Amino acid sequence: MLKISNLHKSYAIGDSSLHVLKGIDLNIDDGEMVAIMGSSGSGKSTLLNIIGMLDEADSGEYILDGLPIKNLTEKKAAVYRNKFLGFIFQSFNLINYKNALENVALPLYYQGLKRKERQKQAMFHLEKVGLTDWAHHLPKELSGGQNQRVAIARALAANPKLLLADEPTGALDTGTSYEIMEFIQQLNDEGKTILIVTHEEDIANMCKRIVRLRDGVIMEDTFVNQVRAKQNV
Ligand code: ADP
Ligand code: MG
Repeated sequence: MLKISNLHKSYAIGDSSLHVLKGIDLNIDDGEMVAIMGSSGSGKSTLLNIIGMLDEADSGEYILDGLPIKNLTEKKAAVYRNKFLGFIFQSFNLINYKNALENVALPLYYQGLKRKERQKQAMFHLEKVGLTDWAHHLPKELSGGQNQRVAIARALAANPKLLLADEPTGALDTGTSYEIMEFIQQLNDEGKTILIVTHEEDIANMCKRIVRLRDGVIMEDTFVNQVRAKQNV
């Protein structure tokens, strides 16, 4: 699914620069469910943003689904992002004046689908996350867990090959976090490749592999016995 080798990234801060990723090597196969762990500031989001083509590395190689990701124009990057990737964020990132159905339908608009077809597919995905009855409600009328499910439905709408989640349970209480993780595990059971950034040990243990970052290098990369979220709910 993806191959990363010797990836480096620095941020310019005034006259100096902060070296955040210092030679990352990471291969992820189809169907994996991987946690990227590390303390705050260790470079997790930076790495995820590069993988998600929201940002570019300074050097190194990144190949996504056989495609070298380098020097892409904004337009091309947007096309690949839409085609390959789904995103879930800690803060949901829903559009607050659009209802659940409209939020889920949005990526389909960018894929050029007609309105009727967008609505139909969006409804199908809302049903998958158990929110049929909430389709016409605004984000402010939904709970945190419901909003994250809308965000998951939106991420899935364009049928991405890879789902990227940055602290997806960071804003949720434990019970709701585990419900969301149960859902994400089901997606992985169905074959979806998933990469989750988290700093919570229990969430990482619900994945199948844990990659630990420290100060911009991978300290440890191990396969683990997946803890199922359901028994914890
Ligand atoms: P994490 O997600 O693990 O908390 P980040 O990848 O967000 O870490 O950040 C790693 C380091 O890079 C931090 O020290 C952070 O302050 C810095 N950083 C992140 N984004 C930027 C940016 N756009 N400009 C400057 N520094 C940044
Ligand atoms: Mg982060």
